[in-house]
Amino acid sequence: MPAPLRLQGIPASVGYAEGPLFDLDRPPVAYAGKASSAEELKSLKAAIGKAVSRLVAMVETADSDAAGILEFHIAMLEDDALSGPAFASIASGHSADAAWRQALDAEIAGYEASDQDYFRARATDLLDIRDQVLRALTDDGEHAVPAGAILYGEDIAPTRFLQIDWSAGGGIALKAGSTASHVAMLARSRGVPMVVGLGALPAGLAGPALLDAEHGSIVVDPSPMEIASFRESLSAFAARQGDARSFLTRPALTKAGTAVRVQVNIAYPTDVDGIDIATCDGVGLMRTEFLFGKTLPDEETQYRAYRKVLEWAGEKPVTIRTVDAGGDKPVPGFTIQEGNPFLGLRGIRLSLARLDIFRVQIRALLRAAPHGNLKVMFPMIATAEEYERSAALFAEEQAALAARGIMQKMPPLGIMVEVPSVAIAPEAFAGVAFFSIGSNDLTQYVMAAARDNAGVAHLNSVRHPAVLRLIGSVAAFGRENGIPVSLCGDAGGDPASIPVLIEAGLRDLSVAPAQLATAKAAISDVAV
Ligand code: PEP
Ligand code: MG
Repeated sequence: MPAPLRLQGIPASVGYAEGPLFDLDRPPVAYAGKASSAEELKSLKAAIGKAVSRLVAMVETADSDAAGILEFHIAMLEDDALSGPAFASIASGHSADAAWRQALDAEIAGYEASDQDYFRARATDLLDIRDQVLRALTDDGEHAVPAGAILYGEDIAPTRFLQIDWSAGGGIALKAGSTASHVAMLARSRGVPMVVGLGALPAGLAGPALLDAEHGSIVVDPSPMEIASFRESLSAFAARQGDARSFLTRPALTKAGTAVRVQVNIAYPTDVDGIDIATCDGVGLMRTEFLFGKTLPDEETQYRAYRKVLEWAGEKPVTIRTVDAGGDKPVPGFTIQEGNPFLGLRGIRLSLARLDIFRVQIRALLRAAPHGNLKVMFPMIATAEEYERSAALFAEEQAALAARGIMQKMPPLGIMVEVPSVAIAPEAFAGVAFFSIGSNDLTQYVMAAARDNAGVAHLNSVRHPAVLRLIGSVAAFGRENGIPVSLCGDAGGDPASIPVLIEAGLRDLSVAPAQLATAKAAISDVAV
């Protein structure tokens, strides 16, 4: 029996899987060339058509997140800018497969060279599109993935993920990958365990494996003892999940009876479709930068998106954050290329530099406000002046809307506390309506460890005393000055961090919808 191989990566979607390994990177079936360029061209066009039809069929059964990705792929495949260079290369004598591969590889290389996580993640979409057409050319449909297998390889494309039947279990173990990719988002929403950043997995691995996507590890060819302890962790995890579900509909209380408000974080207005408003205390963070994804949304599009969420929440609060573009969230036509984007023109800095875009969002928010219990907050605030300028813009736009007789309302205006300058000297912000601690960024800036860099992930802990001390002092400042303080970073949904956050004085957390039940369960275990 081979010795067990253990590797450590980063959890991208929590859960456990035990099963055979399946190599995602096995070479595809070879393409048989045609006699003439005309036939090669016909064959490539037919393969693109076949790939589009397969995607259209998948859209019909996909949920809204998945359908969005598939429609993006269809649009790319139908775009002449992508296929044109391949057609030209066939005309100059290349075979259909070589021409397509060459054209797509050139595009992919451009995205991969980007120093921004978002663009590198889009390279995976292009790789997927490339391989779908190559598979259609050779008629090599989806390779049979054994039920319950753990798929391992460099990365996995979203469409490949969607073609797999996950009902029998299974998981994903990636050498590279990113927790911010589309496929990681899909894995989290479908509950498929996934670990990324495992580094150099030896090629041609086979055999049984144990994937622990709660702690981010994989063991290949495990010993009987490892199997037994893995199964214990798995059943403890399953029991925790089962118990947690019973907390979903109840208000969150600690052992001592302290009430903790638990709200949800969302990104798209459709995110609320699957959530029962009775299970949460409102929306603690709506990230609007994803609405700004590929094209800048106009005032009407934004107004409708905000109004939908406000109407869903009824009387409960909805905290919408003005666009936090930049950093790892570039928006074409808005953000700029920078050497060090996390420390650059990001969040409120960018909005204040592009008032044409910011004013559109402000108007949409002011018009949406009468439709519910809206609160608005500004991201990446570092100085009081940024808050004051932003609040003044709200007042100006409100006056202009009122002068035109348009229905509007001024919402309470608060700030994210995610830049250390604010957490260290909050007294400059005594006039804001509320604070929301962004522990993702606060941690990366306090620890000088980029949040998207697997190499420094060990430093990136909200539980470091320096980060916790800052959080505690912001909570105390809020209490003493009557300013509500919540936390909307990922730590709020992490059962391991919840006790220390509550001990630090927080009584208001906002978590990913999939973490609502486990967060409430973890709160019930806290002593204070
Ligand atoms: C944070 O920084 O904790 C936060 C909630 O904002 P984002 O993750 O969108 O940067
Ligand atoms: Mg942030």
